[in-house]
Amino acid sequence: MQTDFLPISQEDLKKKGWNALDVIIVTGDAYVDHPSYGAAIIGRTLEAEGFRVGIIPQPDWRHIDDFKKLGKPRLFFGVTAGNMDSMVANYTAGKRPRKKDDYSPGGNPGLRPDRATIVYSNRIREAFGDVPIIIGGIEASLRRFAHYDWWDDSVRRSILLDSRADILVYGMGEIQVVEIAQRLLQNKDLAGIRGTAIVGKKSGGMDKRTGINDKRQTGNVIILPEGSIEIPSYEEVSKDKTRFNEAFKIIYTNQDPFKGKVLAQKHDTRYVIQYPPPLPFSAGQLDKIYELPYMRSWHPVYIKSGGIPGFETVKFSIISHRGCCGECSFCSLYMHQGRIIQSRSKRSILNEASLISERPEFKGTITDIGGPTANLYQATCTLWKHTGTCQDKHCLIPVKCKNLKTGYREGMELYSRILALRNVKHAFIESGIRYDLLIDKDSSEYLAYLCKHHISGQMKVAPEHSADHVLKIMNKPTFDVYDKFVIKYNEINKSLNKKQYLVNYLISSHPGSTLEDTLSLALYLMKRNIHPEQIQDFTPLPLTLSGTMYYTEMHPFTYEHIYVPKTFRERKMHRALIQHGNSKNRAMIRKALKIMHKEYLFKRFIENEKPNVRKT
Ligand code: SF4
Repeated sequence: MQTDFLPISQEDLKKKGWNALDVIIVTGDAYVDHPSYGAAIIGRTLEAEGFRVGIIPQPDWRHIDDFKKLGKPRLFFGVTAGNMDSMVANYTAGKRPRKKDDYSPGGNPGLRPDRATIVYSNRIREAFGDVPIIIGGIEASLRRFAHYDWWDDSVRRSILLDSRADILVYGMGEIQVVEIAQRLLQNKDLAGIRGTAIVGKKSGGMDKRTGINDKRQTGNVIILPEGSIEIPSYEEVSKDKTRFNEAFKIIYTNQDPFKGKVLAQKHDTRYVIQYPPPLPFSAGQLDKIYELPYMRSWHPVYIKSGGIPGFETVKFSIISHRGCCGECSFCSLYMHQGRIIQSRSKRSILNEASLISERPEFKGTITDIGGPTANLYQATCTLWKHTGTCQDKHCLIPVKCKNLKTGYREGMELYSRILALRNVKHAFIESGIRYDLLIDKDSSEYLAYLCKHHISGQMKVAPEHSADHVLKIMNKPTFDVYDKFVIKYNEINKSLNKKQYLVNYLISSHPGSTLEDTLSLALYLMKRNIHPEQIQDFTPLPLTLSGTMYYTEMHPFTYEHIYVPKTFRERKMHRALIQHGNSKNRAMIRKALKIMHKEYLFKRFIENEKPNVRKT
């Protein structure tokens, strides 16, 4: 059983009696050895396969010295910006520098560069020349093709080219990195690995030849398998928004592990080539990853700075599954974890709960058992295992597909067994809940069970907006579904004699949303005395459906024009309307009402200021 952190210094290497590492992972996050942190998962996965792995967390990117501190790896450098895209980590939705970084020691900002993947990779090249570099993590994953970058307000080329990396791993990455390490060990070619993208020059006819090239470096000739699709080039998509939409649509519809084709996008004389996503993990495979010997703590090197704030929220939480079949337009999960739900076994989760509950610092509360959507644990469709997801319909929109089976019985059994563990007093479900899966009769027992045992006074749900045409663009259920859920939730809590609330997540300034739409949302909230705190100013993320709509002002599937609130002034008005109870928003609300010629409503806003605020 592993009982130590992965090495981060020469001293650590000496202690282990190693003079070199096989793989060095450079990450924009502090080193937290926990399965919620990508660098830890990848490091432990490689270690379990017998590779010697070290970590360089948050190196000083202004010099090359930090990148040299563990020497040159025998196989490769793995580079990640961390658990978040570095631009999202460094800037607010108003494009202002953030004052806090939860993934850094003491929450201090400024410890990761903008565009960390590119900066780190180029420093490594400076220090070590042609050492193989593998990039991965959410930043690399969502920037694998030419993409719209909100911070630059322009289309950037694939991150593979700017980083000069040898290969990009997209998605969660465990299976890909092991395959890459093994191939490099055997001096084999890196082309053709599912869940990766590489750069090369195309050879011969795009669709006529099969096979792979025999060299791995960027710029080599790649022979594409039959059926590969060439999408509009970087040069085309950066000049023409219709071509941008065409490219996006092809990428989007080829993210299924069973049906997805090899995609190639030309950048000048070279091609970025993406291989289809990896096949879904079985429960056993996923269990193995989460059962690796993590230290479940931040590295002691951060004691002086007070630890890593972001770790506190996951310290006593458990990841039960991956993937989401919801396909919300603004979410990057579809392109990263995919639509097929992959759940861990109850046994494995129960063991993890037991392990956590035996830790000396455990005070009796498991804070979360969840995933991207908590109530999709063990959800299944008969198609997922062998043929993948449907291309012509969604699993949850407009209503739940009849082939989708929820795993509520399994979930309830698991949660009750966790609650029965010796040291566990509470086991909460803090991850977001998909409320449209909780309105029919079949789900009543599950909802009542959650309300009775696993809600800490408030349940997190994401209505996002109230205007149906905006919800349609977001790929969310119509608003009457939310209303139905609220009635049911309140009835159940009443019958349980419990006072429990909803935390409502809303998105301000999403494509499709006019000031009139947001005013109608504000009036709805006002009527129900809801004063939302969880508002997200819409940020167009690369390779998301909403990000594409923001940039092109069109729906990439229908080419219908979409109104997009783009100026900071208008974005502020949307937010002010939603946060109607805050007196600081008066001026903005007045401006918004004036634009809509509805100044007569101002009095209503004033009357609703500073009320007995109900936290939602
Ligand atoms: S059959 Fe239904 S649940 Fe299954 S993939 Fe298709 S839409 Fe989703």
